[in-house]
Amino acid sequence: MNRVSAEPRNHPAELVDYNLFSSHSALVEALAREGAAADLSTLESLGARLGSAEMFALGEAANRNPPVLRMLDRFGERRDEVEFHPAWHELMRRLISEGLHTGPWAERRPGAHVVRAASYMLWAEIENGTQCPATMTYGAVPPLARQGEDFGAWLPLLLSREYDPRFIPAAEKRGALIGMGMTERQGGSDVRTNTTRALAVGAPGPGREYRLSGHKWFFSAPMCDAFLILAQAPAGLSCFLVPRFLPDRSVNRLHLERLKDKLGNRSNASSELRLESAYGLLLGEEGRGVPVILEMGVYTRLDNAIGSAGLMRQCVAQAIHHARGRRAFGKLLAEQPLMRNVLADLALECEAAVMLTMRLARAFDAQQDESEALLRRVLTPVAKYWICKRAPMVCAEAMEVLGGNGYVEEGPIARRFRESPLNSIWEGSGNIMCLDVLRALSRAPNTLETLHELLEGARGHDPRYDRFVGALLGELAEVAAAADPADGELRARDLTQRIALATQAALFIVHGAPRSCEAFLASRLASAPPAAFGVLPRGSDFDALTTRIFRETAS
Ligand SMILES: Cc1cc2nc3c(=O)[nH]c(=O)nc-3n(C[C@H](O)[C@H](O)[C@H](O)COP(=O)(O)OP(=O)(O)OC[C@H]3O[C@@H](n4cnc5c(N)ncnc54)[C@H](O)[C@@H]3O)c2cc1C
Repeated sequence: MNRVSAEPRNHPAELVDYNLFSSHSALVEALAREGAAADLSTLESLGARLGSAEMFALGEAANRNPPVLRMLDRFGERRDEVEFHPAWHELMRRLISEGLHTGPWAERRPGAHVVRAASYMLWAEIENGTQCPATMTYGAVPPLARQGEDFGAWLPLLLSREYDPRFIPAAEKRGALIGMGMTERQGGSDVRTNTTRALAVGAPGPGREYRLSGHKWFFSAPMCDAFLILAQAPAGLSCFLVPRFLPDRSVNRLHLERLKDKLGNRSNASSELRLESAYGLLLGEEGRGVPVILEMGVYTRLDNAIGSAGLMRQCVAQAIHHARGRRAFGKLLAEQPLMRNVLADLALECEAAVMLTMRLARAFDAQQDESEALLRRVLTPVAKYWICKRAPMVCAEAMEVLGGNGYVEEGPIARRFRESPLNSIWEGSGNIMCLDVLRALSRAPNTLETLHELLEGARGHDPRYDRFVGALLGELAEVAAAADPADGELRARDLTQRIALATQAALFIVHGAPRSCEAFLASRLASAPPAAFGVLPRGSDFDALTTRIFRETAS
């Protein structure tokens, strides 16, 4: 007799082969509410494909077998290639074939960004390294499209649904991807300190050829086909499109010096780069590099919020599943009163993240609407800050629901926990996002008015919300009028956090399930949001909250 099987098991089956979408009521409702009801069935079939055991296994394999730098060939000649595990390529192929990188640009229709946001959130549940090149490519399309003919040949390649990993010139490929290089050793937030130099080969100007020399300290997904890179030109910091190959088919002088040994995001390569008179084309005007790359940054920041919302959801779904299948002290964990509170509170945090992210995605669909543009401007850094900050806490608490098994790398949470701090760090770290919120509110007074309107719309239903929003709006007006900017900066995290909570509360009041709304108002609008989860008040409908984030369904 097999001794192992005779031992008591007391654990649930692996949570795989289920529909990531239809098991997630909060996301299903958000998709319909934010203008993409017609796409419910598309998301349902995507949710089934992504929730397969095969997808979970691919995500694991790609992260257990990180990429390797092949700097030189066997004769000592420069090669500057990165080799990836087959699982990475398979994931990239599937991601791109689903159109999750540039779908809304390929098919410009109402709801396209909302559909992508929901789809990308599902992908984030499975694998996050592949989202790096996909996100950068999504963000690179608008600045490239804005420059007209000079870069027009790139667009069909970026919109293509074919993944083509061959290391050959983009013009000969069936699809292409874009990366970016801003951060240097001496600073990433303050890109004005960039020292990489760019000199025009002939006449300077947009679309013209320059040579770039210098160094980039973080340069992710270096096997992309081209990169948006910041460098100092004679007229100031400028943005360049730098391809891996020159028009004569020779390899551009982008020398990869090392791959970072990272805490998480291990499937993806993040390199250090030396540019040695590398070929690049000026994107936009000389000296206007920051606005060009910031246009890309708005989209990548949306994706950070989406990614963290997806990461949280998968960890919480795993926690709920575990608690429904493991017993302690004579009951299932999911029946123990205190564990019910923890699970419900985690689920509530996920639901709040989904609501805010999906509302923000709608603002990306309404590209021509002025007030949506203002909301996009302020809510993007708000959502990026708050949702990405909450993710590590949610993932850690979900891990603890699995007890010691949660801490083990074989389980589903350890990798996701290691991934979870990243979205807050890159693409503008937490403080930079909060300072950006202040900038958005002070530079265009209409922004504060638009935020005011959004929050006012939910007033008159609950005194806790009315008090919270009244105090917040008063303080925002005070900060906008303050003579000393340091005063606002000191309070920037507090204000950003409160804008996030107020917006989430407003969404719960206007659209949410009454039980979720009550639990959110009761637990999140106190003087400070709870530092740990599992502190919802007595009388909350714990099981209903939990089921909104994970309902057992067949695939
Ligand atoms: C895995 C990974 C991949 C990456 N890939 C890329 C890539 O492909 N391309 C790329 O260009 N970069 C990339 N980055 C770099 C990333 O964008 C930067 O690390 C980030 O922007 C922060 O820059 P820094 O590391 O130089 O920190 P710093 O700029 O030194 O900032 C350190 C801290 O100080 C805070 N801070 C800065 N200024 C202020 C201020 N005025 N007031 C208050 N606080 C402030 C920041 O919020 C941060 O917390 C990557 C980073 C990681 C971890």
